[in-house]
Amino acid sequence: MKKLFTFFVSMMLATTIFAGQAKYVFYFIGDGMGPSEVQGTEYYLSQIKGELGITPLCFTSFPYAGFVTTYSANSDVTDSSAAGTALACGVKINNGALGILPDSGDPVNSVAVWAKASGKSVGITTSVGVNHATPAAFYGHRPSRNDYYEIGVQLAQSGFDFFAGGDFINPTKEGEPSLYQLAEEAGYTILRGYDDYKAKKNTNKPMILLQKEGIGSDIPYAVDAREGDLTLDQIVTAAIEQLSKNKKGFFLMCEGGQIDHGGHANDAIACLGDVVSMDDAVKVAYEFYKKHPNETLIVVTADHETGGLALTGGGYSLNTGVLQYQKVSKHGFSQVLNKMRHDKKDKVEWADVKAALTENFGFWKEVQLTHDDEMKLYDEWYHSFAANEKVKMAESLYFKDEPLSHLAVTILNRIARLSWPVGSHSGSYVPVFAIGAGAEQFTGRIDNTDIPKKIAKVAGYKVKK
Ligand SMILES: [Zn+2]
Repeated sequence: MKKLFTFFVSMMLATTIFAGQAKYVFYFIGDGMGPSEVQGTEYYLSQIKGELGITPLCFTSFPYAGFVTTYSANSDVTDSSAAGTALACGVKINNGALGILPDSGDPVNSVAVWAKASGKSVGITTSVGVNHATPAAFYGHRPSRNDYYEIGVQLAQSGFDFFAGGDFINPTKEGEPSLYQLAEEAGYTILRGYDDYKAKKNTNKPMILLQKEGIGSDIPYAVDAREGDLTLDQIVTAAIEQLSKNKKGFFLMCEGGQIDHGGHANDAIACLGDVVSMDDAVKVAYEFYKKHPNETLIVVTADHETGGLALTGGGYSLNTGVLQYQKVSKHGFSQVLNKMRHDKKDKVEWADVKAALTENFGFWKEVQLTHDDEMKLYDEWYHSFAANEKVKMAESLYFKDEPLSHLAVTILNRIARLSWPVGSHSGSYVPVFAIGAGAEQFTGRIDNTDIPKKIAKVAGYKVKK
């Protein structure tokens, strides 16, 4: 009897340990990736093959899924720093703040800190600036998310093992050492681009992998990407190589940060193309999972939805396939127009603009326009280029765009039958998908603050206040 009892106790212990051991954790956050951004991408992937319905993404095929609330401590509609803090630290805070409690202003630790304190290696990665709101929520504490320099200082002090992203935002401050200098003094090796990474990856130092200099703090949208640009799947590949050196396991956060920027700009292919980029990075994690299925957890979620994207333009069909003819983002086309202004010394003819619209949006070729569309484009060319007026740029949160570029994207949205009511965030649920050790925790309706706690539970992290 005693033997049988011991057997059951050890069986129970074994089950607990088995269910609780996510030695390797991948935490993907699509910034601004609501349900419509996910399913819009899946419709698009089918339409470009001439099929009806959806082509599932890697992460939407995971066996467990649920809904996540997104509201913050002071608003039904969150921003990325309050949502990032909820997803990182398990507390709701005020919009605009980062990693500090609403009343006391006290800093709160993130699941990445808990992982590090439990002996794991930690990686924090993104397609935008490494000190932008979402990655910063895992190591930063500031009254304002816009204190980029101070947040960058906190990155250097974090003690984490691997960072990657576009670049630092605002790396310098009058009279202070640059963030690059501070990071190097803290022991980090800074690498520029994937080739540089491959050449120097055998260093045993902690690492900050950034894109090549001169591109900016964001990795370009997938639709704007050129040969040699850093990608999220390269970042996850590099992160796995570096973090796996620790035999105790790792915690890796990877943000698809430009999905949100595409949403703010109501630029469908910029947004949906970056959902695909993040899915490509998830595929790298999934390959790792297949090698270590009992010890790996992959969680994919979002911080909020951006733009209020609706998969309808009225009527009963979608036409998202036309988005394939858009070859640059709205912002990228602004730069095309800008270059034309510069090259042609302000003598840009309608024929020039028409040719550029055909090349970059398929207009008059694969994408048929109404007479009204054509007149609007012609009018905008006249105001922007011929009439010698001061051009009023179309503003979204992250960009100022040529009005003609804004108009072209607006027309393509209508033809694709996609609607964007706002250029800000919405208060909708976001999805969560999970696979692997402890994945069954991520079903039903979950508050965003519960996700890091659930990860800590299944990974066995000691929660460090
Ligand atoms: Zn946003």
